[in-house]
Amino acid sequence: MDVLTLKSKDKLDCKMCDKCCIYRGDIRLIPLNVCKISKFLKISIKEFLEKYTDKLEYNKLEIVLKATGKQKQCILYDNENKRCSIHKVKPMQCVMFPLVPENLKRDYFYNSGQCVLDNAKEITVNKWLNGNNKIYSRNKKICMEWIQFIEWAQAELDKIPSNKNNLKKIDEFYVILFENYDLKRFDLKMQMRNNMRKVEKQIKLMLNVK
Ligand code: SF4
Ligand code: SF4
Repeated sequence: MDVLTLKSKDKLDCKMCDKCCIYRGDIRLIPLNVCKISKFLKISIKEFLEKYTDKLEYNKLEIVLKATGKQKQCILYDNENKRCSIHKVKPMQCVMFPLVPENLKRDYFYNSGQCVLDNAKEITVNKWLNGNNKIYSRNKKICMEWIQFIEWAQAELDKIPSNKNNLKKIDEFYVILFENYDLKRFDLKMQMRNNMRKVEKQIKLMLNVK
């Protein structure tokens, strides 16, 4: 499979057929997505988390958008208007589709070939990724910070036994990471970084790591 850079041209187009919004339940959200989508939907973070997300049981501290029905359609797909209901603030995974990052830091991708469109026109990867509200370029850095944090946290939390106390503590980490935001403030990325630091500190304390 060819590696694509931001300057590469590839067959990338969308006719809003909904095929990439079914058989889901795997669309991961970072805390910034939770804040932005809650704001966009004009609901509280708590309500958004309860109604629209599930915890990923096999990957601690990660959450995904719920999928509904036999076809496991993403809960945020708007069936009436046949489109994503949160297009302007959609998660990175959806912004990239059908591209998959090969190396996010260096902006290397490959085309998963999962888009069902046969006659897609050719455009640059940069235009594909940044056409929608520049979500990719504005959020790439914080996404990378999240990935680094979550990989570290999961490796550390895997070392502890799953007893009642530890599970309670992990639930508290979810709250810090995903709920502890003031949506009226504009420094959401800073709030997210502070929350990651808080949880990192607490995990280190739990494990007695320096
Ligand atoms: S499968 Fe392709 S054409 Fe269909 S909605 Fe997804 S990106 Fe668009
Ligand atoms: S967030 Fe939008 S684009 Fe992504 S799977 Fe859900 S409905 Fe589809």
